Amino acid sequence: MQVDAFENALFSVTVNPLLKSLIGRFDKECPKDGNLLLNSLKDFLGEPVSLCPTCRHISRRIAAPFYEFGSRFLRVDKNFMRNQFLNNQYGEAWLRGFGLLMKGIEKYGVRVPFTPAGPFEIVWNFTYQCNLRCKHCYENAGGKKRAELSTDEAKQVLDMLSKIAGIGLPALSLSGGEPLARKDFFELAAYARKRIGYVSIASNGTLITRDNAKKIKDAGVEYVEISVDGATPQVHDDFRGIPGAFERTMKGVKNCLEEGLDTCIATVLHRDNMAELDKIIGVAKQLDVRLMHFNYIPTGRAKAHVELDLTPDERLHVLETIGKEIIGLYLRAKEEELKYGNSNVKVDRFFSTCPQYASVTKELSQKHGEKFMVEAHYAAKKGVENVANFLGGCGAGRLYSCLEPNGDIKPCVFFPTNKGTVLGNVLKDNFEEIWDNHPLLWKLRIREDLEDYMVDGQRVGCGSCRDKYICGGCRARAYSYFNGNVNSPDIGCIHNKPLWKRIVGGKRVS
Ligand code: SF4
Ligand code: SF4
Repeated sequence: MQVDAFENALFSVTVNPLLKSLIGRFDKECPKDGNLLLNSLKDFLGEPVSLCPTCRHISRRIAAPFYEFGSRFLRVDKNFMRNQFLNNQYGEAWLRGFGLLMKGIEKYGVRVPFTPAGPFEIVWNFTYQCNLRCKHCYENAGGKKRAELSTDEAKQVLDMLSKIAGIGLPALSLSGGEPLARKDFFELAAYARKRIGYVSIASNGTLITRDNAKKIKDAGVEYVEISVDGATPQVHDDFRGIPGAFERTMKGVKNCLEEGLDTCIATVLHRDNMAELDKIIGVAKQLDVRLMHFNYIPTGRAKAHVELDLTPDERLHVLETIGKEIIGLYLRAKEEELKYGNSNVKVDRFFSTCPQYASVTKELSQKHGEKFMVEAHYAAKKGVENVANFLGGCGAGRLYSCLEPNGDIKPCVFFPTNKGTVLGNVLKDNFEEIWDNHPLLWKLRIREDLEDYMVDGQRVGCGSCRDKYICGGCRARAYSYFNGNVNSPDIGCIHNKPLWKRIVGGKRVS
C-alpha cells in the first residue's frame, strides 16, 4: 500500500472526525461580523478585522491554533500566506479558495488529493459560436446554431456562482467557442468580475482588436489566454482552418500586451506542429508571456484526428523541454534570492495541462538537488511545494469543473457531452448537491480506484503508479481511449508505454 493510500485510510478513522468538528466550531455566520471562517484567517495573519467578543474568543482560542498547526503540518510558510491572502491583487480569489478548502475538510475530511467544498475554478464554454474551424476543437464549435443561455440567464448563473458553497467561486475562465463572438460578452465579463474573485478568458485572439483589448481591460478581466498553434502562419492556419488567422491572432496578443493585460499563449502540441516547439518557446520568451502547453485529447473534433496524438516518448520530450525552462527560471530566482535577498525572475512561465508535468518536473528538479514541481495546470508557487499530493494533478470534478453554453455542468471541458458526462444543469439543478453527491465526481476524486493492467508480464497503468497522487493521469484521455471508463490508465504517459503500444499499435511508438 502506498504511503498516501495508507494516510487516507488513517485520516478517515483518526483525525477527520476531530477536524470536522473543530472547523464546525468556527465555520459560522456572525450576524454582526459576517463569515468567521474567513475573518479568523485574516485575524491569524494579523489583519485588523472587526470581531465581536464571542467571535474573537473562537478566533484566538480555536481557529488560530488550528491554522498554526495546519501551516506547520503542510510546511506552508506564514509569510507566503500573508502575501497571497492579504497583499496580493488576487487576494480575494485566494481567500475564497481557502474558504472552500476548509469547508471541504469539514464536509469530506482530509484526503490526498483533497476535495474542496466547491471548485476553485470553473471554465465556462460561453458560446458554441466561433469564427475559426480548428481541427482539435473540443466543443465542435461553429456551424449549426445551438441553444445558449440568454444574457439574463447568464447573469443568474453568475449570481449563483458568487455564492457557491456559502463562499463564492474563486476563479472563472470564459472560453468557447470564441467567447468574444457573444454580443453581450463585455457586459457579462464585467458583471462576472464584480462577483467572482478572478476572471480570465481563453480566446483565439482574432477578434481582439485594439479597441476590444481595451474593453477587456475595462471589464476587469485579469488574464487572457490566446491559442497559438504554430510559430508560422502555415502551421497555425492549417490547424485553425482559416487563412490569415495567424496574423490576426498575433495582433490580438500584441494588443493585449499593449493594453497591459496579463497574457499567455496556449499551444496544443500534436504530431503536425511538434517540430515548432522550440520556436514557440522562443516566441513566448520574446513577447515575455506565459506559455501553456495544451495536451492533445481526442474529444470533440479532435476525435476524428486521433492520429495526431503524441506518442508517450513525444509527450515526454515536450514536457521535459518546457520543464527545463521553468526549472531554469526557478534556479535563477533562487540564486538571486540567496545573493540579493529577493528576485524579480517570473518563475510561473511554462505550464502544461498534462498532469504528468508534476512527475516530470519533480524528476528534473531532483537532478539539481531541488524539490520543485508544478503541482497543477497553473500552479508553481514557491512556498507550496509540499502540498503537491493534496493538489493532485488532474483536477477534473475536484478542483475545477466546466459549464456548457446552455448551462450543463461537466467535470472538465475535455469530456464529451453526453448523458453520462452531464452532471446536471446549473439553472435547473442544485450545484452544491451535485458537487457533494454525484457518483462520477467521486469516481474522479478517489485515486485508490485507478486501474492497471498486466501487459507482457508487466503491471502498468495509473493504478499502480507511484506518482498517481501528484498526477492521476488525464481522466478525459482515459475516458476517450477506454470508452468512457474514467478509472482506466492515461496511455499517453511514458510509464504506460506498453499499453499505448498494445492499443494504438507498435508502428506509432517511436
Ligand atoms: S502512470 Fe498515470 S498517474 Fe502515473 S505518471 Fe503516468 S499518467 Fe500519471
Ligand atoms: S481531465 Fe484532468 S488532466 Fe485532463 S484536461 Fe481535464 S482537468 Fe486536465
